[in-house]
Amino acid sequence: MPRALITGITGQDGLYLGELLVGRGYEVFGLVRGQSNPKVATVERLVPGVVLLEGDLTDLPSLIGAVEISQPDEVYNLGAISFVGLSWKQAELTGETTGMGVLRVLEALRIAGGNDLSRVRFYQASSSEMFGKVRETPQRETTPFHPRSPYGVAKTFGHYLTVNYRESYGLFACSGMLFNHESPRRGIEFVTRKISRAVARISLGLQDSVSLGNLESRRDWGFAGDYVDAMWRMLQQDTPDDFVVATGETHSIRELLDVAFARVGIEDWSGYVRSDPRFFRPAEVDVLVGDASKAREVLGWKPRVGFHELVEMMVDADLATEAAAADRH
Ligand code: NDP
Repeated sequence: MPRALITGITGQDGLYLGELLVGRGYEVFGLVRGQSNPKVATVERLVPGVVLLEGDLTDLPSLIGAVEISQPDEVYNLGAISFVGLSWKQAELTGETTGMGVLRVLEALRIAGGNDLSRVRFYQASSSEMFGKVRETPQRETTPFHPRSPYGVAKTFGHYLTVNYRESYGLFACSGMLFNHESPRRGIEFVTRKISRAVARISLGLQDSVSLGNLESRRDWGFAGDYVDAMWRMLQQDTPDDFVVATGETHSIRELLDVAFARVGIEDWSGYVRSDPRFFRPAEVDVLVGDASKAREVLGWKPRVGFHELVEMMVDADLATEAAAADRH
């Protein structure tokens, strides 16, 4: 039975990846931080048989302990402060977790393995935010980086470190440069989920309006369930490499609002949406759109869920959750 260790298992991708790996016959170990983490019950429900280990990306000894206990064949480093907006407000914590956290996981593997990194494979959750101010469109693996947020800078550090451990120690290390991916499990601070939840609540009469930043921002949005499959495929190759994972399509926040409100039968949503400068980013990234040809050719990967289906899936899930919560009260 192959063994996998996932950091960030309580997050959106960690849950989908845990489910996928259990389904593929893995013994799954997940790192969980803090005391009485409220998300533990959800992980245990969705990832049957998961073994949860206490640890934190800012604490090297706990990471060494997690590696020693799990003895992983594959490590997926998904843990991070992942919200760009928060990364300006808590830049130091973002650097420590999203950036230095990668170094600590890699060092934990090296130390726990007594410098032998030959049996383990490592996946790093890199991000399209590393491209930031884009130098070419669409962005591919060779596009130069120009991150535009503390989050993007920290991810760029983690990305180069992953490449460096591959080159320095021969570690089978892959970096997935993933474009935005969403799902009903997306945190409610992210704009896609903020919208799907607000639309559900507005249609149920539980909320009057939603305040958003720049409605013209465009992103390349895919479905998280599809993207974790790309992570797994990277670690099954003969040689380690880095891959862009994206849909290759962009849509604006305005289009997202069109699809989401249409799902609940509202065609003119202008009275429900407010533009609030507080939600504008200090430095905006350009239009990010990924070219995933390499992932398609080498990994045989392609996205299965399209933009409309994704938005409708999120609104439907929030409608069910909000209606059930309203019934309880
Ligand atoms: P989430 O925000 O949903 O999950 C982040 C995870 O990191 C949570 O499990 C969280 O734990 C954990 N975490 C945060 N701080 C620490 C810490 N100090 N020690 C240990 N764990 C910690 O992110 P996603 O699942 O959406 O993303 C997974 C990874 O992929 C992240 O690294 C993200 O930056 C990256 N990424 C995501 C993209 C996307 O569109 N979703 C795009 C490109 C990259 P807790 O529950 O305790 O807070």
